[in-house]
Amino acid sequence: MSEPINPGDEAAPGTPGSGEDVCPACHGTGKLEDGKSCQNCGGSGVIQEGIGGG
Ligand SMILES: [Zn+2]
Repeated sequence: MSEPINPGDEAAPGTPGSGEDVCPACHGTGKLEDGKSCQNCGGSGVIQEGIGGG
């Protein structure tokens, strides 16, 4: 559990029932319109999204 989770992540990487999805805040670019690094996904452009909900 040493890997940090980004604010946009709904689940930790590798969590069963979750998967990667394009970050809705930066649309996969990893940067915001003002050129700053996207904090929602940590600049990766993708988030870990829970599937199926719960
Ligand atoms: Zn983002």
